[in-house]
Amino acid sequence: MTQLQEHSTTSQNLGSDQHMDMVARFSANNYEPLPVVIARGEGSWVWDVEGNKYLDCLSAYSALNFGHSHPAILDAFIEQARKLTLTSRAFQNDQFGPFCEELTQFCEMDLVLPMNTGAEAVETAIKTARKWGYKVKGVEDNKAQIICCTGNFHGRTTTIVGFSDDPQTKDGFGPFTPGFPLVEYGSIDALKAAITPNTVAFLFEPIQGEGGVVVPPDGFLKEVRELCTQHNILMIADEVQTGLARTGRRFAVDHENVKPDLVILGKALGGGVMPVSAVVGCKEALGVFNPGDHGSTFGGNPLGCAVARQALRILKEDDLASQSDKKGQDFRDRLRAANCSKIKEVRGKGLLIGIEMTPEAGAAKPWCKKLMGEGVLCKDTVESVMRIAPPLNISQADLDWALERVIKILS
Ligand SMILES: *Cc1c(COP(=O)(O)O)cnc(C)c1O
Repeated sequence: MTQLQEHSTTSQNLGSDQHMDMVARFSANNYEPLPVVIARGEGSWVWDVEGNKYLDCLSAYSALNFGHSHPAILDAFIEQARKLTLTSRAFQNDQFGPFCEELTQFCEMDLVLPMNTGAEAVETAIKTARKWGYKVKGVEDNKAQIICCTGNFHGRTTTIVGFSDDPQTKDGFGPFTPGFPLVEYGSIDALKAAITPNTVAFLFEPIQGEGGVVVPPDGFLKEVRELCTQHNILMIADEVQTGLARTGRRFAVDHENVKPDLVILGKALGGGVMPVSAVVGCKEALGVFNPGDHGSTFGGNPLGCAVARQALRILKEDDLASQSDKKGQDFRDRLRAANCSKIKEVRGKGLLIGIEMTPEAGAAKPWCKKLMGEGVLCKDTVESVMRIAPPLNISQADLDWALERVIKILS
C-alpha cells in the first residue's frame, strides 16, 4: 500500500500537520481555523490527534451548550438511530408530534415549523412574516419590508447575507433580495423612524453574538415589543445563538420578560449531535402555511426530534439557565476585577461573554492563539472581540482554570 492509499483508508496515524495539509489541499478555503485538529471530546474538554487536551470555550458557537458527548443525549441519539432516522414529512413519524408539543410548551408558543440549520430557520421566519404580511395584515403584493439591524448575523444564505452590513459577508454574492431596511442596533428611535405601512416584521438578535457580543440598552426589548404591537408588526427574535439558556435565561428576551411573535432556534436545539432548528410562534403567524407552501426533507426527522426532546429535558432538569447565569456573572466580575491591561471592556449575559481588546492590544485572533497555547480554545468574533462561551454545564473548577489563563494572557 502506498502512503497515499493508507491515508485515504484510515486517519488513525496522521498527525495534526498532515490533517491541516489535507484540508488546505482539498477543502474550499472559506474558514481560517485555529491550528488544532480535534479527535475526541468529552464534556467541556477536547483532545487533538496527538493527545493534547484543551478546554472548549467556544462550544461550536453555542451548539454545544450541553458539552461534548453528553451521556443522556448520546443515549437518545443511539436509541433513536437504531429505530428510525428519517421518514421525510411525506409520512408521519412518532417523534415529531411529541417534539412539537414539548417545544411549544417549553417556549409557551402555539406552533412549530422544524428545519435543520439556523439559516434555514431564519429563511422560514422571513417567509412566514412575508406571507403573514400579505394574507393577514393586508400589505400590497411584493411590498413587504422586514426591518433588520446593523451588525446583524443571521446566517449565510443569499437572502440573509443580502441584509448584512459586513462588506466581506456580501462581497461577490449579489444581486440581493430587496425588502430589508437596516436600522441601528439598540436604537428604538431608529426603529420607530423606519416603520412604514409595508413593514411586516422586525428581525433582531436580543444579544448580537457574531456582531461582537453586543448587548442592547436595558429596556430595548420591552420597547420593541410595544412598538411592534402598536404598529401590527411581527417581533422576530433570532435566538439561534442566545436561546436555550446560553445567556442565563431560557431565551435572551426573557431578561425583559417579553414574548416575541416568532422565536428562531437552532444550534443547541440539536444537542450538539444533529442540526435541528425551528421557528416557534403564534398561531396567527405560523398559521399562514398550507400544505406545499414550504418544507424540508430532513426537517422534523425522528432522529433530530428525539435528540432535541432530550436536550430540552436536560435544560429543564439541570436548570442550565441558572447555572449559566451565575457562572457567567461571576466570570465577568472576576475578569473585570483583574484589571487586565489588554482588556477594554468585558460584556455579555450568562455564559455568552465578550472581551473587547484595547486598541493597543489590537486584533483578538493572536490572543486566541496564545490562549490555545495555554490549553483554552476560543474564538474572536469581530476583529477586536474575543468570545468566551463554554458549555453551560462546565464545572466551576474548569471555568476557574480557564479564567486564570485568560487573565494570565491578557494582563
Ligand atoms: C449561527 C447563527 C445563525 C445561523 O445558523 P447556521 O446553523 O450556521 O445556519 C443564525 N442566527 C444567529 C444569531 C446565529 O448565531
